[in-house]
Amino acid sequence: MMKWEENVRKVVPYVAGEQPNRPNMIKLNTNECPYPPAPGVRKAAENMESAALRLYPDSNAQPLVDALAAYYDVKPEQVFVGVGSDDVLSMAFMTFFNSGKPILFPDVTYSFYDVWADLYRIPYRTCALDENWHIHPEDYKQPNGGVIFPNPNAPTGVEESLETVEEILQANPDVVVIVDEAYVDFGGKSALPLLKKYENLLVVQTFSKSRAMAGMRIGFCIGNEKLIHYLNDVKFSFNSYTMNLPSQVMGVEAVKDDTYFKATTAKIIATRERVKKELTSLGFTFPDSKANFIFASHKEVPAEELFRALREADIYVRHWNKPRISNSLRISVGTDEEMDRLIAFLKEYLEKRV
Ligand code: PMP
Repeated sequence: MMKWEENVRKVVPYVAGEQPNRPNMIKLNTNECPYPPAPGVRKAAENMESAALRLYPDSNAQPLVDALAAYYDVKPEQVFVGVGSDDVLSMAFMTFFNSGKPILFPDVTYSFYDVWADLYRIPYRTCALDENWHIHPEDYKQPNGGVIFPNPNAPTGVEESLETVEEILQANPDVVVIVDEAYVDFGGKSALPLLKKYENLLVVQTFSKSRAMAGMRIGFCIGNEKLIHYLNDVKFSFNSYTMNLPSQVMGVEAVKDDTYFKATTAKIIATRERVKKELTSLGFTFPDSKANFIFASHKEVPAEELFRALREADIYVRHWNKPRISNSLRISVGTDEEMDRLIAFLKEYLEKRV
């Protein structure tokens, strides 16, 4: 190693799901929405004047902040938006997990958390989920520098009750507790009502899944005004103009169309529940998912084999070679037609194989 390399900030980056794009392929590997964004988003895209791109965007993304504040019935000062919830989470790690004490998160969870912790030199300790993939609230009653967990969890889809979330909040008044609600719109219960009781709670959500806008990169969080103020101080010390103008304009349109939002999420939930039954009849088991994906393993056929066979058939799902989860596939919920093709393929494959 050269001398200069010794002082490089070395990190092992997060590995995102692949983004292949071929006609007729079925992409169920990154939990995107299989339906288009709200019609107003399309209209806004069509009406965008390229001349408007000459100017810097609003550095606060104020129209989007205001729309979200109105929708969730909070003050604009309680809302922070970022370039996807990854950006929001990354800023939150940098802002709030600064004590030098280990932060806590589940052993099986979103695999970006340990990457940010390493990037920002934040010590961390993972707490093992129980055999049903649930959090043990007791684990979060040890001294720590902050807590983060997704609810519903990824990649399991398992939801914790608001009682569990509150038990963790009650045990941790001296640190910031972040609840990552990337998947909450598919039937989960949001922790937002707890904001009135806990000024150290930060709830993070995204437009990437339930609002069908992964390509626009819009995420946000809601919390106490003081938390949001500190978050903005760090954001403005890092990069002021993070969210581009089209994302701001189209994000507002997505928030405006609640009817479309509710109809789309209801459709995905209905498909998910049907697919659960079909997977069960094919010999799969899975924890009950409240997200837009199902974390399934087969009783007899290894996940890695199924992953490869599906891929050969141009059906992409996600598989990790990691402790505890290497025999499961995370299957995003697509359209009914896509899921029918998935089920038909699995049925035929398993009939031949088992
Ligand atoms: N949190 C969780 C739990 C996720 O699974 C994801 C998606 N990879 C994100 C946050 C980030 O999503 P985005 O940056 O697209 O908002």
